[in-house]
Amino acid sequence: MAEENELRYDPATIEPKWQQRWASDPTLYAAEPASCGKPKYYVLEMLPYPSGQLHMGHVRNYSIGDALARHMWMRGYNVLHPMGWDAFGLPAENAALKNNAPPREWTLANIAAMKRQMERLGLGYDWATEVTTCLPEYYRWNQWFFLRMYEKGLVTRKKSKVNWCPECATVLANEQVVDGCCWRHESTLVEQRDLVQWFFRITEYAQELLDGLDKLEGWPEKVRTMQRNWIGRSEGTEVDFFLAEKVDQGSGTKGLGTGTRIRVFTTRVDTILGATSVQLAPQHALVAEFTAVDPELKTQVDELIEQQQRAREAGDLGAIEKHGVPTGRFAINPYNGQRVPIWVANYILADYGTGAIMSVPGHDERDFEFATKYGLPIVQVIKPADSSVSAELPFCSEDGVLVNSGEYNGLSCEEAQKRLQEIAAAEGFGEASVTFRLKDWGVSRQRYWGTPIPMIHCEKDGLVQVPDDELPVVLPAQVEITQQGGSPLGRVPEFLHTTCPKCGGPARRETDTMDTFVDSSWYFYRYTDAKNANAPFDPKAAQYWFPIDQSIGGVEHAILHLIYSRFWTKMMRDLGLIVNDEPARRLFTQGMVIKDGAKMSKSKGNVVAPDEMVGRYGADATRMYALFAAPPDRDLDWQEDGVAGVSRFLGRVWRLVTKYAEAARAERIDSHPFRNERGKDGAPSGLALKLLRKLHQTIAKVTLDFEGRWHFNTCVAAIMELVNDMQAADAQLEAGEVAAPVVRELLRSLVLLLAPFAPYLAAELWEELGEEGNVLRAPWPVSDAELAREDELEIPVQINGRLVTVVRVAADADSKAIEAAALANEKVRARTAGKTLAKVIVVPGKLVNLVVK
Ligand SMILES: [Zn+2]
Ligand SMILES: [Zn+2]
Repeated sequence: MAEENELRYDPATIEPKWQQRWASDPTLYAAEPASCGKPKYYVLEMLPYPSGQLHMGHVRNYSIGDALARHMWMRGYNVLHPMGWDAFGLPAENAALKNNAPPREWTLANIAAMKRQMERLGLGYDWATEVTTCLPEYYRWNQWFFLRMYEKGLVTRKKSKVNWCPECATVLANEQVVDGCCWRHESTLVEQRDLVQWFFRITEYAQELLDGLDKLEGWPEKVRTMQRNWIGRSEGTEVDFFLAEKVDQGSGTKGLGTGTRIRVFTTRVDTILGATSVQLAPQHALVAEFTAVDPELKTQVDELIEQQQRAREAGDLGAIEKHGVPTGRFAINPYNGQRVPIWVANYILADYGTGAIMSVPGHDERDFEFATKYGLPIVQVIKPADSSVSAELPFCSEDGVLVNSGEYNGLSCEEAQKRLQEIAAAEGFGEASVTFRLKDWGVSRQRYWGTPIPMIHCEKDGLVQVPDDELPVVLPAQVEITQQGGSPLGRVPEFLHTTCPKCGGPARRETDTMDTFVDSSWYFYRYTDAKNANAPFDPKAAQYWFPIDQSIGGVEHAILHLIYSRFWTKMMRDLGLIVNDEPARRLFTQGMVIKDGAKMSKSKGNVVAPDEMVGRYGADATRMYALFAAPPDRDLDWQEDGVAGVSRFLGRVWRLVTKYAEAARAERIDSHPFRNERGKDGAPSGLALKLLRKLHQTIAKVTLDFEGRWHFNTCVAAIMELVNDMQAADAQLEAGEVAAPVVRELLRSLVLLLAPFAPYLAAELWEELGEEGNVLRAPWPVSDAELAREDELEIPVQINGRLVTVVRVAADADSKAIEAAALANEKVRARTAGKTLAKVIVVPGKLVNLVVK
């Protein structure tokens, strides 16, 4: 029909129209106060870095969160669905250097551009709670938290290694080190320098961060495992070996101690009588003493340090090829007085444990490898408890008994660990100990575009806190960014020079700024009270909204961000600001968006711009495709054909609903719930029943998926099937064979089901159906279990194990009835004609197998 050609689904008209209407209603997506009486639901998508352009990964993340938020609104919840900007960081400085644009202007322009993109996508955020981390009204609270932590002893200063470009004369971020060289000076090797830096003592919470993981049942197991490994708790013993006097004696002999102790950490003190060397990290303090008098050793150790640094830069410290050098010095085993050689090795890390280990090649894989390489003795001190087990070395099991260990022979490993710990404690050369891989969080950055650290250096008083009433310490607006010659804030005299709050004398401000992970550790609390000028947030607001009901973000944040924000939550709890122990009840990690088998990236030239897709197919089709093309937790391979397909589907929905909207409108009776209206004419039957059954099955599936399965791809597929069934019945619908109330229920529910996925089209069709109010506030449809139940089942029929046909039987049919239906089937009769039926096997509800000869 010509008329149909003229009426086309046109997202370019529909979507801006609704976008404008929604924008004019600030209450639409606004969270309500606790007094509203509704149950609360807080859905959080991780805030983006304002690069200026959303990418498809963002679109996917936000489409998932927005569908969930809309669903919960329709379920009658008071929903908090906020958005903000992780707006500090190096790219703004890089852009400033490249384009000569001030970081603040560049960042705010990018935010405006991305906000427009989000609004065009129809994402339902409560912009009244927007958080922008680079604005003083936000970062002043970073400073406030810093001071509170400083007062509680959770802030320390210590020397730490930084990447240093001698050419730039400044510190480089890890991402600015390319193949060991400066990103701006490709032939200048980056050095590791010791610099005094600020640290948050996250290690104080190591045990609690670990224990809390057990309770986070709504978090993906892989994330919890990554955090457990990152925290890396090991139980063991710290033991002091004694530095032997430098006399010409070999290994194994008893020696005199110098009084200097070498503390090692071991998880297997039961094997200590099998120690054949002590290994030190190249940066160990004792090594410096040895090399000070031994230039040859110094050269060798420097080489080890370099190897370690290269492996660290390659991010592959665990796989370092093990090298070591003997120092010519000996250590005395405190349990038997035996001398063992001291080595320096590149795989021993200064910042793990004590930076020194005892090497037991008989019972440790790594030590065995090292001893074999350098010809160090290998001694067995544990034999298997079960004598039928082979005792080939290295024998690393703890299911064993001590041998070659003098008075401790015969003890089990567990008994020996306990006994040897007790002896160490009693004799004063060691103790039971727990060590963590987790390190304190270095928050110092020698950068401009970050939160200034609110401390003052006074010559007389030392470190002095900036008083609370002088916060925020505002980042100066005009700074020349050269990325050379140290911290940019050090070159701003008005910033640098101040007076000491204690003595009133001249003093100097701290010029380091904070790591941007500080900003993202607590922004989601600020959303609950974003305009508060007197506190980071009102504890009552946080108590109402926390913990977050559902957090959604990429798995790349499994460590760092998600550990820091858990730490921050515990720290704020201990300040008495909040009562929850963990930030989020549930966490969902979506997969990546890839194209042509690779992650989208500018360098690969496979980036698909969201604006382009929205321009061509509309926001609804782009968003719905992002949910439909793959299960949300898997990677999604972007195919433009797929977006076009979803757009065509939405066009079919649009035509179907507009075609029958008039009939449906005539059936609207506001004062009666529709369900009763349908019942007036008695139970539906025939085609009406068939369509209603499909509808209620679809409602049940989509609802279930929102409750935690998150198979949005199969949800959308189910809605597509429903639309197919309705289109297939077009002729009967046109002929009026389905009662108008049923038509109305079908169309109305279809629009409600689509609302979380394609909000613009749903709003348009809701209006078209003559329904009142915003579809977002319409109650989510409820599946009628009675209607959804199938009354017939399809049972496959096999003959001699091969599928022949399918028969339809009543859902409650017994074996006899199923057998009768199978034998009555024409195909079955044709295949069994003239043969003998030897056996009939019926699995009720599942299968019939006929054995014929
Ligand atoms: Zn450089
Ligand atoms: Zn002072």
